[in-house]
Amino acid sequence: MTTDFPQPPATCFGKVYLVGAGPGDPGLLTLKGKTLLECADVVIYDALVSPEILAMIGDQAEKIHAGKRRGQHSLLQAETTQLLIDKAQTHAVVVRLKGGDPFVFGRGGEEMEDLIQAGVSVEIIPGITAGIAAPAYAGIPVTHRNYSSSVTFVTGHEPIDKYRPRVNWRAMAEASETLVIYMGVHNLSHILSELDAAGKDPDTPIALVRWGTRPDQEELVGTLATILSQMEAAQFEAPAVAVIGNVVNLHPLLAESRPKVIPRQ
Ligand code: SAH
Repeated sequence: MTTDFPQPPATCFGKVYLVGAGPGDPGLLTLKGKTLLECADVVIYDALVSPEILAMIGDQAEKIHAGKRRGQHSLLQAETTQLLIDKAQTHAVVVRLKGGDPFVFGRGGEEMEDLIQAGVSVEIIPGITAGIAAPAYAGIPVTHRNYSSSVTFVTGHEPIDKYRPRVNWRAMAEASETLVIYMGVHNLSHILSELDAAGKDPDTPIALVRWGTRPDQEELVGTLATILSQMEAAQFEAPAVAVIGNVVNLHPLLAESRPKVIPRQ
């Protein structure tokens, strides 16, 4: 296989590669992503990148954790962008490693905009997003000819300083046969009441998949009417995706043949 990277671009010494790490299972990292981790000079990574993927970073690389989980200290977005710009001045291959796909609720678009405006060369390496892979590892296809012809990926957590209007959950209830909600665990009660107000059938199946594709993957399957009490009983926590729609009914059958998650050493 031939690749055309890494090559220092003409305009700036270094180049930033915005790499999607996938949802956790190291086997789901792209070949491009793996090659870049092996030859990177610097890797700046987020909290949701799995330990197995971090272990693939070459010894030569400087590793910087810019990540954040709810409530923990992290670099501010502007600090992370500045760090990327600074590193690109002095290093040839700078990898910005993000969980799942950088452009799916990963601020990859924002970072790429800022880097281009700062004159830094940047390239996107997509990753497998959790909203597809976590349901898949739970035996739930997000579309299916008999059950769902449409899927919507939506955030359940909206930034306070956002410029766009709130997610229109009532429209979502009608617009799409499958809804995949990221960052929705803490806000699920509000989301469910909005879907209910839109007339969504309370018997609609829902699955929550936590740490999808990882050794500690957990699932909770119920209906819109039951899931909140199930969550409470199971003390179910983030990070998880929620899948709503009739495709969830395939879970008992398809989960029997789910991928084997390699246990952590
Ligand atoms: N860019 C990422 C999403 C980042 S937003 C992607 O494409 O997957 C963070 C949210 O993604 C989490 O709150 C959770 O809803 C979801 N998520 C990320 N990794 C996950 C995993 N392994 N299993 C389940 N949900 C995950």
